[in-house]
Amino acid sequence: MGRIRILSDQVANQIAAGEVVDRPASVVKELLENSLDAGANRIRVEVEAGGRKLIRIADDGCGMNRDDALLAFERHATSKLRTANDLLSIATLGFRGEALPSIASVARVTLETATGAEDGQDPTGTRMEIAGGKILHVDDAALPRGTTISVADLFFNTPARRKFLRAESTELAHVTALVTHYALAHPEKHFELLSASHTLVSAPPVSRTAERIYQIFGKDTLEQLLPVAAEAPLAHAGLPEPPPWKRDPEEPVRDPGRLRVAGFYSKPELQKLNRNSIYIFVNKRLIRDRLLLHAITEAYRNVIPPTSFPVVLLFIEMPPEEVDVNVHPAKTEVRFRQGSLIHDFVRDGLRTALINARPAAGFLAALDSAPLASPSLIPPGISPLHGAAADLKPSPEPPDSEPITSEPASADAERFELTARHSGPTPVRLPFEASSFRPGTFAGTGALARTAAALLQGELLKPVGGCSPNQEESETSLSNPTSATAQVEAEQAAETLNHLGSLKALGQLRDSFILATGEDGLWIIDQHVAHERVLFEKILHTRTVEQIQRQRLLMPLLVELKPWQMVVFAQVAEELERNGFEVEPFGPQTLAVKAAPVGLEGKALERALTEVIDQSGKDAAGNDAVEDAGNQDLSALRRRVAASIACHSAIKVNTPLDPARMEWLLLELAKTEHPTNCPHGRPIALLYSWKEIQRAFHRI
Ligand code: ADP
Ligand code: MG
Repeated sequence: MGRIRILSDQVANQIAAGEVVDRPASVVKELLENSLDAGANRIRVEVEAGGRKLIRIADDGCGMNRDDALLAFERHATSKLRTANDLLSIATLGFRGEALPSIASVARVTLETATGAEDGQDPTGTRMEIAGGKILHVDDAALPRGTTISVADLFFNTPARRKFLRAESTELAHVTALVTHYALAHPEKHFELLSASHTLVSAPPVSRTAERIYQIFGKDTLEQLLPVAAEAPLAHAGLPEPPPWKRDPEEPVRDPGRLRVAGFYSKPELQKLNRNSIYIFVNKRLIRDRLLLHAITEAYRNVIPPTSFPVVLLFIEMPPEEVDVNVHPAKTEVRFRQGSLIHDFVRDGLRTALINARPAAGFLAALDSAPLASPSLIPPGISPLHGAAADLKPSPEPPDSEPITSEPASADAERFELTARHSGPTPVRLPFEASSFRPGTFAGTGALARTAAALLQGELLKPVGGCSPNQEESETSLSNPTSATAQVEAEQAAETLNHLGSLKALGQLRDSFILATGEDGLWIIDQHVAHERVLFEKILHTRTVEQIQRQRLLMPLLVELKPWQMVVFAQVAEELERNGFEVEPFGPQTLAVKAAPVGLEGKALERALTEVIDQSGKDAAGNDAVEDAGNQDLSALRRRVAASIACHSAIKVNTPLDPARMEWLLLELAKTEHPTNCPHGRPIALLYSWKEIQRAFHRI
């Protein structure tokens, strides 16, 4: 007798469960997605003991009739696709038909569902009990339209899995993060999360994402965010079109559709230790994607320190044919048909938004935030996308003249235990780092804010559903903005760096900071980093159009290097030369510098040179994580060289400046793309706003 056997459905389901459900949060994810696919407008999630004891999700979606309810627990049973072709354009969150049978094979499940009397359906509801994959009861029951699924005793029959569960508070935090994310993506729906008798999330329908952010994270976070919106037709760049004689004249030319990005991004002053505060949704699906994370990091490059991460909430929309969602059992990864086009679009969209907004850093807010990175919006170590944390190493940049204080990269490592600060559930508002924010200034351009809001509210929020054609249009509640979000938006006054050029320089503080006044208040400008930013952008720009001006040294400067530094020097020599250096090896461990960029001399010249070499060496060692290493290396190297030259030739602190020179510096700074931060991420100009001043003097 042969040794090969076909596994029973029960075993097959348990194996599938290993991929799909590995903790309470992943059960919540699958069930939430089903509710959203069912067109639900109200979703209530209850958990007990972090979901280990009970997870119950109730929705008011389309429900199931008795036959469907029975089928739903069969393996590969789905209402969301029929043919393999449908896989190419999936508009629902689910499609694999695996979740319910998998969950039912490792827990005790109760399903209560009814379709309601609409559309001539039999309104009788169904109540079903399943334990460890076996149906125990199926009964008729009088129930309202919708579905409630209770999952009790998760992994009761798979003790090995149960052992992997973490502390209740940890599992609860994961569930919370997950519900939060879905609530952010669907502001027009009502989400609730309850644990024991505490309400952790309570988000009634609102019309705009900004209001949802306010509901979930509160005013302080909303104040730190700026809207972004961009849209472009999706040309099929690089994809072969069939030649005209091969096209079917009957078939209309397919419009490849549009690519849209809308969402919110943080001002440079708000920095996080890890990328857990970057939320990316593609067609409303929460995903982790290295490519997009990289695009976001690139957009912030040389604006925030390479060891810090922004808060970004991005909703990317594209025709479903453009993205393959069937690449991961938990559906947290996707593959784009035109990856690099999307990467560049996101990077450029964000970068342009940053350049246009030029948000002024508030003096009081800056005391608390930059450059000290504060933890992410979600408690440490919690990512709703388990196991999918893309580890994308940002390429290191040279440290500033003084090292920037920030946590080591290991802060990214998963730390599951919640600190006491986070463990106590707080009603309604999540206990997310209130202390790291201060009510301060909020800058945003009104027009942009409106575009983003319109985009987020319109097309983007079309419900996807698995119940068509019975599916109802989701009811978008057009409630008036709550007074608090309105207030935040009212404070979106023009506190930007757009008027830098017209500021009046009053003088210097200890020969290091320029004090200047304008309509909006009192400005304090760090003269060193301001000049550094000016030089950095100038060098990068000149580098692409002509040779950088160089000056010959009267005597060659000799620089001693270690053997490995000599190796790195050989790799960067060409770039150094393009930037105005003339350097030659002089003996086995010595370099002779014969010419250097204007403004760089003596010790500063030596430091700039060794800095470039050291950083390039480090970068080469840690760069295997980045894919297109060739290009990456080159542009990173260019920026590094520019940053080093800029840093070491910029006006130093403790340098007296005459009024003309101060004015010149402000004018030059006004011309830069990112007058907000120096290339290493430090703030350049802080605003003590007129309002803050009036408040401080108790005049308002
Ligand atoms: P998938 O979501 O991939 O189709 P699932 O196992 O998650 O697979 O669900 C199987 C089917 O059960 C779904 O296709 C859907 O028709 C039905 N279903 C599941 N949950 C709900 C719900 N909350 N409301 C209505 N129908 C549901
Ligand atoms: Mg599903």
